[in-house]
Amino acid sequence: MKTCTTCNKIVTDSKTEFKCPECGKTTIIRCDHCKMTTKTYTCKECGFVGP
Ligand SMILES: [Zn+2]
Ligand SMILES: [Zn+2]
Repeated sequence: MKTCTTCNKIVTDSKTEFKCPECGKTTIIRCDHCKMTTKTYTCKECGFVGP
């Protein structure tokens, strides 16, 4: 089950999914809501914060 990295909501159809640009270890998943409101995400591995 995939959850949004920012709000932890379950994402069934994740269109926004990418590796952390800093460490590449974690996969960042963002739901449509967080994408639209341009909330920031934090990488669990390296603590990288991105838009
Ligand atoms: Zn979200
Ligand atoms: Zn990272």
